Amino acid sequence: EHVTMLDLVDATVAATPDAPAIRYFDGTLSFGELDARAGALASALVEDGFAPGDRLALYLQNNPAFLIGLLAAWKAGGSAVAINPMNKQRELTYLLSDSGAGVLLCLDELYEDVAREVVAGAGEVVVRSVITCSALDEQTRDDARVLTAPRRPAPEGAVDLARLLEDHAGRTAEAPRPDAGDVAVLTYTSGTTGVPKGAMNTHANLAFNAQTYRDWMGLGADDAVLGVAPLFHITGLVAHVALTLLTGAPLVLAHRFEPGVVLDAVREHRPRFTIGSITVFIALSQHPDATREDWASFRCLYSGGAPIAPAVTDQLEERTGLYVHNIYGLTETSSPSHAVPLGVRAPVDPDSGALSVGVPVPSTVVRILGEDGEELPPGEVGEIATSGPQVVPGYWNKPEATAESLPGGELRTGDVGFMDERGWFYIVDRKKDMINAAGYKVWPREVEDVLYGHPAVREAAVVGVPDAYRGESVKAFVSLKPGVEVTAEEVVAFCKERMAAYKYPRTVELVAELPKTTTGKILRRELRDREG
Ligand code: ATP
Repeated sequence: EHVTMLDLVDATVAATPDAPAIRYFDGTLSFGELDARAGALASALVEDGFAPGDRLALYLQNNPAFLIGLLAAWKAGGSAVAINPMNKQRELTYLLSDSGAGVLLCLDELYEDVAREVVAGAGEVVVRSVITCSALDEQTRDDARVLTAPRRPAPEGAVDLARLLEDHAGRTAEAPRPDAGDVAVLTYTSGTTGVPKGAMNTHANLAFNAQTYRDWMGLGADDAVLGVAPLFHITGLVAHVALTLLTGAPLVLAHRFEPGVVLDAVREHRPRFTIGSITVFIALSQHPDATREDWASFRCLYSGGAPIAPAVTDQLEERTGLYVHNIYGLTETSSPSHAVPLGVRAPVDPDSGALSVGVPVPSTVVRILGEDGEELPPGEVGEIATSGPQVVPGYWNKPEATAESLPGGELRTGDVGFMDERGWFYIVDRKKDMINAAGYKVWPREVEDVLYGHPAVREAAVVGVPDAYRGESVKAFVSLKPGVEVTAEEVVAFCKERMAAYKYPRTVELVAELPKTTTGKILRRELRDREG
């Protein structure tokens, strides 16, 4: 518990300096090279005035520079701020000013398109230096030097990462080492309920859950990890970055999630473990070129971040030969608080049809709380409250939000759920997504589970829409599998046969694609706003 991420990295680098740490298209970076580059960047940062406790903002896709930057921030005595590369000026301005990051490491194109204006603008943004790097594309992917050589000159106002690394080669920073309780990364909540909050994921938080992944999935140095979750998100940070730094296994990266590119990486590097949102597995398994053989290298698959319909795990198993294990957690629990143990099939609750998210991971205490904060017995539905070594101590500079969401250090998750008599947990849904149809509570997840049981349905999202008579009524947005035809009325009829009258969607709208976050989560909020 008192170990830092830097301690874990040092141990891995010392044990296997020549082992591959990152595989990025056809380029490879060993643990020794990764460590040396992080040292060089740390040296450059300190020379530039980066002081202990400073923040380095990472505004990147899944690029090797993300790992170099993260390690460099720690070596220079500070922490990192993980920023979604989809963010535009308004969001970036908020995140940079809220975090007070002094240095920004970003993709050259993101700098030119978005960050330049933000950094130059007056106000609370205090970024004093910008370091840029380039992404790979189809043309440059065969170039083994991609991990080191400058691709193009840095844009005006920025320094090129590869140049800095060259200039500082062989050096490292003189800086105090972090303590286990220090912030390692600020990860921002997506802000569905007000402004985004920077969750303070400490070294101890990340190290604990990296060990959870290693131990629960039985992973070692031979188990290459396919990095399909975005690295700025907590699951990418822990289940990809922190995990490989701990085990010494290579991390297979693709710039962004494109099923065809990811399938190529799978064929080339034969990863053994991955975790992503369920939409990632749906997209990969339904890609026209995908075959069952593509899945043969995997020992196990995990899916978290969003509900999984039981019908979908069955369909995926048919296509891939692998059972997708459910796993549950939040940014504030540094990835998992619950998981389905490897090789075990999660039960489905007979009443609600929900697939269990598993059992609490070690040292984690989970309570179900009623309206007045009282603890409820097994079987009763209430808010999930979690405490454990992976729970963040609070939000950056937000004592009120911390006191509200983390009273006494216990996280109020905002998720409604229950535990059965045997100790399995089930998420009913997010508190704020409940639909109130003429006084009846409808949980979108339950309706979506039924929709996924329809053979033509690829993806489904259910929201409440304003209704003059009922207050709210249930509406479903559905995308179809390729090559099938079905009408909206047929889908409504399918649901009507299987659900109480107040629950089944009165309207079904067929859409080509459902809106999603970069992490692959379906955005019910956006659909709701559309209906506004
Ligand atoms: P917000 O800022 O609104 O919380 P977010 O979805 O980006 O947005 P995350 O911390 O990434 O925040 O996600 C945590 C949430 O994802 C949980 O509170 C829960 O609602 C949902 N979730 C995660 N894993 C699962 C799972 N296995 N089954 C169902 N829901 C899940």
